[in-house]
Amino acid sequence: ILASCCGERGEHCGRRSAQSREQTYVMVKPDGVQRGLVGEIISRFERKGFRLAGLKMFQCPKDLAKKHYEELQEKPFFPKLVKYITSGPVVCMAWEGPGVVASARKLIGSTNPLQAEPGTIRGDLAVAVGRNVIHGSDSVANGEREIGLWFGEAELCKWHLELTPWLLE
Ligand code: ADP
Repeated sequence: ILASCCGERGEHCGRRSAQSREQTYVMVKPDGVQRGLVGEIISRFERKGFRLAGLKMFQCPKDLAKKHYEELQEKPFFPKLVKYITSGPVVCMAWEGPGVVASARKLIGSTNPLQAEPGTIRGDLAVAVGRNVIHGSDSVANGEREIGLWFGEAELCKWHLELTPWLLE
């Protein structure tokens, strides 16, 4: 089925449409790493059915933290936020799949963990906005921008998820 459906360029194939190749940048923040939540978080995205396109552990330098959060630089909590993100290693991930940007935000839950729904990562695993465990891009454009910031081209792995026919029609 795969061979006859997905040609070299795959332009006719729903499973390889632009929408199913949407990507988002997800990051376990230093508190999530220190609290041993990396496996649990990766598991939730894997079980949902997204494809892991990039994964690394990384000590974020200050200038990258500032660039990543540049939209928030006028906020009073910005210096604290940069200190938090650079306070220890983070785990950087690129996840791919249909509607992955919005879906990841749902899996993650509201920014303030006390307002995040139970069942979401922040709702289940955090209590403070300044220690909310995880980041997820808030738009497709920011997903692309952030993956470009945090990953080199060679760090992103193109591989075929053999389960695709069981996940996508
Ligand atoms: P999100 O991460 O849900 O997209 P924002 O982009 O608004 O949320 O904020 C980025 C990060 O800044 C948050 O995840 C959180 O770690 C931190 N942050 C946001 N608001 C506050 C606040 N009022 N006090 C401290 N840190 C905050």
